[in-house]
Amino acid sequence: MSTFKAPKGTYDLIPPDSAAYLAVREAIAAPLRRAGYGYAETPGFENVELFSRGVGESTDIVTKEMYTLTTKGGDELALRPEGTASVLRAALEANLHKAGNLPVKLWYSGSYYRYERPQAGRYRHFSQVGAEAIGAEDPALDAELVILAVDAYRSLGLRNFRLLLNSLGDKECRPVYRAALQDFLRGLDLDEDTRRRIDINPLRVLDDKRESVQKQLAGAPMMRDHLCEACRTYHEQVRELLTAAGVSFEDDPKLVRGLDYYTRTTFEFVHDGLGSQSAVGGGGRYDGLSEMIGGPSLPSVGWALGVDRTVLALRAEGVELDLPAVTQVYAVPLGEEARRTLFGLVTELRRAGVATDFAYGGKGLKNAMKSANRSGARLALVAGERDLAEGVVQLKDLDSGEQRAVPAAEAVTAVRSALG
Ligand code: AMP
Repeated sequence: MSTFKAPKGTYDLIPPDSAAYLAVREAIAAPLRRAGYGYAETPGFENVELFSRGVGESTDIVTKEMYTLTTKGGDELALRPEGTASVLRAALEANLHKAGNLPVKLWYSGSYYRYERPQAGRYRHFSQVGAEAIGAEDPALDAELVILAVDAYRSLGLRNFRLLLNSLGDKECRPVYRAALQDFLRGLDLDEDTRRRIDINPLRVLDDKRESVQKQLAGAPMMRDHLCEACRTYHEQVRELLTAAGVSFEDDPKLVRGLDYYTRTTFEFVHDGLGSQSAVGGGGRYDGLSEMIGGPSLPSVGWALGVDRTVLALRAEGVELDLPAVTQVYAVPLGEEARRTLFGLVTELRRAGVATDFAYGGKGLKNAMKSANRSGARLALVAGERDLAEGVVQLKDLDSGEQRAVPAAEAVTAVRSALG
């Protein structure tokens, strides 16, 4: 161990566990690629104002959880706490929305930072794969994104996740509802912090996890009863498209989520095997965000799925991912000449697409065979002086222990047919 440890609330991804993370990222990305989403990568930090304006001045993310820094040049930056604002900023900056092909569909994958109280499933550095469809208002687009997330989870073999769905209305009906909710909340017995929240962000009070608050919320006005005609029709269409695609959902009229930019469709994926940090992913429509960060009106929708929590959910369900073998063949040379010959074969096998490793460091036979077994390889290639003199190498099946000599010149073919 060194003097240093990973900072509080973070952890390192190392083999063998890291393989599952890569597989999860890949599984989430695959359906997006098939649906026309292009890859976007933005800096790990941005101007702090992008997030305070975009994510919302009153959110926990902005007020409590951002890692901010002042550069030597005097710029105020923040490590990105989420992806949507950055990706939208990048699309606007590159004028992608003016190329005449809306919606602009982008996907991304990366690290995000929030100064949260660490606990199981909640970290200060975590990983998300996200998708954004920018510049179109169409219930089919909302449905598409939800379906792609469901397909990603399913392709991993995840089963016990649920989709919670809500509509938060738009700039017509939300203000009317907001005022009605504020009136209701002001009549309740709430602590000072929560009272303050009534003024800045009353919808978040609905999200309060405390029993004492939840009890008083019975009878609170609900957004779904205040949706304007346009929002109601829109939401109905999203629901119909999801149902037609075989995606089941639960209506959650209290679903608000922790970011201020959402309008209309909002959703969250929860997994029941994760305890209190049950959200594995979430997203929704954000028709006003572009204007909030100084862009034109660009109605958009997107989501971000948490990679860390998806891995935890898979573990909770006992799902074994079908991961490619790290090593299929392990080569064990006995002596200097065999080292040269086998090293050449190793390179050939790798170039032929076979995952192959080599007993480095001049190990003796016994140690080298131990390493071969530990590597998980199915086959070992063993050769000593006598084999080379006969122009053969020994091909050993590490499961059955069976061994046979094959001509060195045909070793690659023999290995490939033995692997099937
Ligand atoms: P959000 O950006 O808050 O909508 O979060 C989207 C997803 O990212 C969540 O559903 C989680 O799976 C994941 N996530 C958010 N915050 C954290 C965190 N602090 N630690 C681990 N995963 C997180």
